[in-house]
Amino acid sequence: MASSAAAASSCSSISMMFLTHSSAATSSTAHRLLPPGCLRRRSLHFYPLQMGPTYLRCLTFPSSAAAPSPPHVVVPHASLTTEVNTKVIDGKAIAKQIRDEITAEVSRMKEAIGVIPGLAVILVGDRKDSATYVRNKKKACESVGINSLEVHLPEDSTEEEVLKHISGYNDDPSVHGILVQLPLPSHMNEQHVLNAVRIEKDVDGFHPLNIGRLAMRGREPLFVPCTPKGCIELLHRHGVSIKGKRAVVIGRSNIVGMPAALLLQREDATVTVVHSRTSNPEEITRQADIIISAVGQPNMVRGSWIKPGAVIIDVGINPVEDPNSPRGYRLVGDVCYEEAIEVASAVTPVPGGVGPMTIAMLLQNTLISAKRMHNFE
Ligand code: NAP
Repeated sequence: MASSAAAASSCSSISMMFLTHSSAATSSTAHRLLPPGCLRRRSLHFYPLQMGPTYLRCLTFPSSAAAPSPPHVVVPHASLTTEVNTKVIDGKAIAKQIRDEITAEVSRMKEAIGVIPGLAVILVGDRKDSATYVRNKKKACESVGINSLEVHLPEDSTEEEVLKHISGYNDDPSVHGILVQLPLPSHMNEQHVLNAVRIEKDVDGFHPLNIGRLAMRGREPLFVPCTPKGCIELLHRHGVSIKGKRAVVIGRSNIVGMPAALLLQREDATVTVVHSRTSNPEEITRQADIIISAVGQPNMVRGSWIKPGAVIIDVGINPVEDPNSPRGYRLVGDVCYEEAIEVASAVTPVPGGVGPMTIAMLLQNTLISAKRMHNFE
């Protein structure tokens, strides 16, 4: 995990410090300690108050990316009134509903053909966060009746040892999904390891063949990566129509941003991808009917970035310093929730939005895999 101390601020007027930073994937959520989240403000003085240096510090962009212009003109009409028709997209409740559906399907399958879906997880090393993720996945499997298998290898294991376990699970008919917990120790070649997972059991959906099929018209991937799949599922279950809409995805990582953009395009949205080198992210984002943000920058997307009535899916999970929390920190998203809720028609909270959906989609992919392998409708 890289460590740095860079000044930053939330969308409140308090400026704090990044204590640690990691830009790793799902399984290695960045550990950033930042300031408390944004303050709820409903008055007309809201934007002028943010025009000072704190606001600018809050929107520091890396490299050549230009800082967005201050939020002068596009004052959301919502901030003019206290009655705002904004809805919270409750990822926790939707994920629970999906898990209940999976539980019913797992039991129907067991009764009909005697098969129980199985998910195998390979964990290498002693990272506490990875161990927690694996434990949570195991618990989630148990809660819906999916069998969970796990191998925990020491940090100094060789790549060959990991490949041997993958090969064993590839050949094991009781295993329908294989997940290699990332990140792997640095002496291993992640690509080699992930490519060794049989595509039919690639429930993470990261295999290049799955991603390639996702990108091609008329081709169907065997699995769609869990987090972006969860984002689309949230839109569907919240009754958001995607077809013909303008969508902006902020972030282009292989695990979230890129597949999320492909999925939105498959749903007939017109998609723009914003990344760290985009010169006018605020202006582009403000055109979107649907925003999916997967950046890893706390409170980066401000109210002024949001078109009134837009729908926002906030994937970011960013720890920020919070002396009032027993843990000393709390989690916030990429989107300044308190501002977004004033402008958008629907927003996912962090936590309780996309997070619970990721695990639900992993369970769903495992069930899909078991059904496909056993020709069970
Ligand atoms: P990542 O691999 O670090 O990718 C971040 C993306 O954001 C990159 O494409 C980067 O652009 C872009 N970016 C960085 N700073 C930016 C800026 N100032 N303006 C515009 N774009 C910027 O991260 P990730 O793995 O996709 O994860 C993103 C966030 O989602 C993290 O907070 C992570 O913890 C969270 N996450 C949550 C879940 C969940 O289940 N809820 C799952 C996975 C990830 P470049 O490509 O130009 O570098």
